[in-house]
Order: sequence, then C-alpha cells, then structure tokens
Amino acid sequence: MPFVPVETPKCPACGKSVYAAEERVAGGHKYHKTCFKCSMCNKALDSTNCTEHEAVLFCKNCHGRKYGPKGYGFGGGAGCLSTDTGAHLNRE
Ligand SMILES: [Zn+2]
Ligand SMILES: [Zn+2]
Repeated sequence: MPFVPVETPKCPACGKSVYAAEERVAGGHKYHKTCFKCSMCNKALDSTNCTEHEAVLFCKNCHGRKYGPKGYGFGGGAGCLSTDTGAHLNRE
C-alpha cells in the first residue's frame, strides 16, 4: 500500500495550502498569515489575541461576545507560539 505523505496543510479559512513561511498555528490548525484574522471583525490577530473555535478564528473580544466568558482561556494553546518568525514585528 503506497504511503501518501501528508501534503501541505490547508488553511481552514480559505482552503488553500499553507507553507511554513506564512503559517500561523492556532488550535492545531494552520492558517495563512493573511487569513489569521478575526472572522467577525476582521481584526488582524497574533499569538496573543487569537482564539480558535472549531477552526474559525476570533479575536478575544468577538469570541467572548459570541460564546460567552466561559470560552475564555480556551484555545489559546501553546501552538500559537510555535512558528514565530518575527514577521509580525515588521510594520508597514
Ligand atoms: Zn488562508
Ligand atoms: Zn473580532
């Protein structure tokens, strides 16, 4: 049985491949840097304010609004910090 290697992970937000150079990880899912934003208010997220709920990203404010305060502290796992390339420090 041929082993099919895992292909480039797909971004849950847009369904396209995510390469390591542009990935942001939240809740075990990999997103494009450009897709790593709140699904409700479109605010750009980073590892400190991202919240993931069933592969959908929210900022903490919107997540709290949508799911209530009991969601606080959930989904901000260590995975958020694993691929920090320092790119977020570049201000345009
Ligand atoms: Zn994407
Ligand atoms: Zn938001």
